[in-house]
Amino acid sequence: MFDLKKIIEEARREGRGVLDEGTGKQALAAHGIAIPQGVIVSGADGAAEVCGRLSGPFVVKAVSRDVVHKSDLGAVRLFLQDATAVETAIEEIATALDAHGARIDGYLIEEMAPAGLELVIGGLVDPQFGPMIMVGLGGVFVEIFKDVAFRICPIDAQDAAGMLDELQAAPILAGARGEAPINRQKVIDALCAIGGKDGLLCSNADDISELDINPLIASADTAVAVDARIVISGPTEHSGENTEAKSNVDVCAAFAPLFTPNTIAVVGASATKPNRANVFMQQLRDFGFEGAIYPVHPTASEIDGHPAFPSLGETPEPIDYAYVAIPAARVPDAIASANGRLRYAHILAAGFAETPGGEDLQTDLLAAAQKAGVRLLGPNCNGGYSPRGGLTFTHGATNEVGGVGVFSQSGGLGIDIVRRGQERGLRFSGLMTIGNCADLGPSDLLEFYLADPQTKVIGMYLEGVREGRRFFELLRRANAKKPVVILKGGRTELGHRAAVSHTGVLAADARVWQALSKQTGAVIVDDLESFIDTLLAFQMLPPRATNPTRRAVLFGNGGGTSVLAVDVFADHGIEITPFGDKTFAALSAMNMPPGTSIANPFDAPIGTLKQGEGALCGQVMRTVQEIEPLGAFVLHFNLPVMWSHIDGGENRIVEKLLDAANEVRTAFCDQTHFLLVLRSDGRSDIDERKRNCRREALARGFPVFDELTNAAKALGAIGHHENFHQNSRLSCLSSAN
Ligand code: ADP
Ligand code: MG
Repeated sequence: MFDLKKIIEEARREGRGVLDEGTGKQALAAHGIAIPQGVIVSGADGAAEVCGRLSGPFVVKAVSRDVVHKSDLGAVRLFLQDATAVETAIEEIATALDAHGARIDGYLIEEMAPAGLELVIGGLVDPQFGPMIMVGLGGVFVEIFKDVAFRICPIDAQDAAGMLDELQAAPILAGARGEAPINRQKVIDALCAIGGKDGLLCSNADDISELDINPLIASADTAVAVDARIVISGPTEHSGENTEAKSNVDVCAAFAPLFTPNTIAVVGASATKPNRANVFMQQLRDFGFEGAIYPVHPTASEIDGHPAFPSLGETPEPIDYAYVAIPAARVPDAIASANGRLRYAHILAAGFAETPGGEDLQTDLLAAAQKAGVRLLGPNCNGGYSPRGGLTFTHGATNEVGGVGVFSQSGGLGIDIVRRGQERGLRFSGLMTIGNCADLGPSDLLEFYLADPQTKVIGMYLEGVREGRRFFELLRRANAKKPVVILKGGRTELGHRAAVSHTGVLAADARVWQALSKQTGAVIVDDLESFIDTLLAFQMLPPRATNPTRRAVLFGNGGGTSVLAVDVFADHGIEITPFGDKTFAALSAMNMPPGTSIANPFDAPIGTLKQGEGALCGQVMRTVQEIEPLGAFVLHFNLPVMWSHIDGGENRIVEKLLDAANEVRTAFCDQTHFLLVLRSDGRSDIDERKRNCRREALARGFPVFDELTNAAKALGAIGHHENFHQNSRLSCLSSAN
């Protein structure tokens, strides 16, 4: 019986980091993947006997622990017709390797696989997410085209099919230019044999760090792994992540003291020189926090009108939430003193694990917190905002409670998100900055927002996740029931893993996150503006459970702008394609003013926009919606142009147009998403009026964007989410049948 665990243990004992090709292939075969029949011999002597047992033509390859790419050294010989050719090949390979000073451990004589398309299947254990699988065009194409698709394991057959469809080479697999298509099912089976629930990777996640099947030769009939490279992992440290599902009620109850605290302690406020902790107390009062505030100070008896106490353990009642703004070195003792009387502490100080030499202090802090029964946020962050609980860490934040739940690994960005977000119309169910995540991290906050009935949309700024497996499982289990938007920092940083396999090199962070997005429906964005735009779109445009957005109408003034935008929409998966004949005929019959372009994009000059105080435009939208309902209307108005052309100074044409759009939207029961782009030329008077205009639009339920490109990204995100839903719904239906 082939026993991979035993073989790997033996290899570890002998200090070998890579299994030889023959053993690697046996491991594949044990999981049901086809491999060529073959035998390892020690020299030309045994060749004739072996060839007698196999069917030609034959292949000979060197087995050598010193050689990574055998072909580069002339150590692979193909199309050998008989035993004599095999013997000659063995001698030639011996000479070639000798010249390179490479040791020879034997020669693999094997049958040739049927000719076909060379694919690569790769596997690796990602430091964040654990086992991952890759497929792509194999051979030399791997390095040149990097046309590969990744998924986080385990995968099922539907995931595997999606991976093949994602490749640019998909048409080649399907048989481009008269070639026979490859046997897709065999490739899907091979992918599941590696990356499936009981596949090679998941069953050996602690032992295998990387794996390359390059190539898997896929033909019309079969898919054969003709090369295999399995890299053994070093002694593993178990992450021991708990991925079990908890009940929503339990999760919400556990987080209640953080999001709706009754008692807040402030550590670090000064009795003499007001600092950020004093400011925080003031902010709490201004914000309307109704609970008790307890300043903690070693000597003062009163701070800013509140009686002060010497330690967290000596306040008159237990504390739900402590804002701790003292220098790093003093934090562990301050937390230790709470001793069972404090639930959550936000640690602001920097100088912990993010600073060289600060790791030990962070370990001490965590130990102190665990002993004292305190859950930590931070260190190295800025605080939290929870309008439902009267908690804020920034001036000017609104009391209005909304549905957008956010957490951020950067404190500064957290403030940006609150301030800019609310200007743009976002309303939050909470925002927590989590800094170094010594204790509570992304998975914990994600788990809360998923469970929290107040939260409808989840956003996060992430640099990395420690409990990646738990994070992934949470998202996967949630099955996109709430839209999730991830602003990911540091995606260009290449994987820091050893480049032993192709897979390892290609598994850059960006691809890993792309895979996560494909598998969970989460949306990944690159910058703060897109983050806010996308959250706003999700907040205001409830995703459709059926009929996902794939097409949209662009409607407004600015022909060139909308033509340019068509490509951007296409890049984000939204087609702006011409109307059908019936729609076109109906619009033509409406006798639009000159200059109107009855196409999609629909270019409406001022004369058209203002006709009937927006009534004509309303009629256009209604007609389109009646005959050819597309997924979305994107209205875009060039404000300075509109305002300069219309007499009477204070006109309300934009509002009139929005009212017209609103009527159409209501008449058709919100079947179509309406997005609004208000374009300014940057002059201060225009910007000022635009601000008012934005407010009016938000009040009518239209999300507002600054440019068409912003709207394109946001609508693309909605489309991604809706498509994910539809696919997962369809797969549920088909598995139920
Ligand atoms: P390496 O990747 O170390 O150079 P491979 O074992 O992948 O060596 O062999 C190099 C190439 O030879 C493969 O990409 C494939 O085209 C071809 N090849 C190797 N073994 C077989 C086989 N059994 N049947 C058909 N082609 C093979
Ligand atoms: Mg190879």
